[in-house]
Amino acid sequence: MNLRFTEEQEMMRKMVRDFAESEIRPILEDMDEKDEFPRAVIDKMGELGLMGIPVPEEFGGAGMDFTSYIIAINELSRVSATVGVILSVHTSVGTNPIYYFGTEEQKKKYVPKLASGQYLGAFGLTEPSAGSDAGGLKTRAVRKGDHYILNGSKVFITNAGEADVYIVFASTDPGEGSRGITAFIVEKDTPGFVVGKKEKKMGLNGSNTSQLIFEDCRVPVENRLGEEGMGFKIAMANLDVGRIGIAAQALGIAEAALEYSTSYAKERQQFGKPIGLQQGVGFKLADMATQVEGAKLLTYKAANLKSLGKPCGKDASMAKLFASTIATKAAIEAVQVHGGYGYTKEYPVERLFRDAKVCEIYEGTSEIQRLVISKHLMNS
Ligand SMILES: Cc1cc2nc3c(=O)[nH]c(=O)nc-3n(C[C@H](O)[C@H](O)[C@H](O)COP(=O)(O)OP(=O)(O)OC[C@H]3O[C@@H](n4cnc5c(N)ncnc54)[C@H](O)[C@@H]3O)c2cc1C
Repeated sequence: MNLRFTEEQEMMRKMVRDFAESEIRPILEDMDEKDEFPRAVIDKMGELGLMGIPVPEEFGGAGMDFTSYIIAINELSRVSATVGVILSVHTSVGTNPIYYFGTEEQKKKYVPKLASGQYLGAFGLTEPSAGSDAGGLKTRAVRKGDHYILNGSKVFITNAGEADVYIVFASTDPGEGSRGITAFIVEKDTPGFVVGKKEKKMGLNGSNTSQLIFEDCRVPVENRLGEEGMGFKIAMANLDVGRIGIAAQALGIAEAALEYSTSYAKERQQFGKPIGLQQGVGFKLADMATQVEGAKLLTYKAANLKSLGKPCGKDASMAKLFASTIATKAAIEAVQVHGGYGYTKEYPVERLFRDAKVCEIYEGTSEIQRLVISKHLMNS
């Protein structure tokens, strides 16, 4: 495996790192405190071509490879996991389902606007009683002439309220279980569709997470994505890829934890020397650095497979499982290395601690990733 990035990929890394440092770092505290969506940052990302990195140029994207896109999420999340997840959801599960499964008309109508950042995308799968068991969703879609009538609700939807386009999953044939699920493109102003309560979360402040409510919501038949019954396949195909994005987000958080901890351990003196020279602290840094390197290798291996068009499901799950586990660990250790100061808002590590945990939960919990990996092993 070639572990070197291409010149183009290196340019992407540098550009996004500079952007994150100059445009996002100055607003971090404010965004966290006010829990306000970073609209100006997202608009600038659109201008820089970051909202459609892997989308071909003919559909308004940057036409770069999948690895370049993962580099961008990794670098953004090193500064702000919030901006990282907004981009990841928008692209992996908000735009890609239309690009890969849409008709020519749907692709022409939505993808260029999403790829340029004029539109923001969202993905509505989870329901109050259907999380890990997404195939058991209850939202119904009944065809009446040239419309489908949607009834039901979704929870925990990232980008809700800010998004222009939602990929929504509903059952068209409840007797068929997951094989009766159909995907729809729902525009924000569709009659009968409203965004409900916004969650107050432990972390990822600035990223909206809200309910979606459908009450006799009329979605035109031409907004059905794929055939009836193909919805679950569409959801799972895009989640596979989405998981590499979450791995990159977790990696960025872990890298930040390591960087903050190392520089603090060099500066902070106790017992007449920097705390990093105490073996108990030095070993924490060594473990963190080793785990970050492992997460990096797994994440970019999965990204590379996807870039080459090869199957990447097992590798995506492994990358997401490992990177999210070590991100939480690294964030906890970063607070410990900072001592009492780590527990205050004066230092950024408590935010990393709050942001990291969700990576073990969304786009499939760690338990579900283990199920996916073990199924691959048993079927190989
Ligand atoms: C901040 C945030 C943003 C999100 N964004 C989105 C979004 O944009 N779109 C969207 O559709 N969803 C989104 N989600 C939902 C997320 O994907 C779900 O919360 C997640 O899949 C888990 O579902 P659940 O919360 O219902 O937990 P449950 O499925 O009820 O799980 C509870 C516990 O049981 C365990 N468990 C369940 N089944 C099994 C099993 N078979 N074996 C072993 N353990 C099991 C789980 O691992 C977990 O520990 C988001 C969630 C959060 C918190």
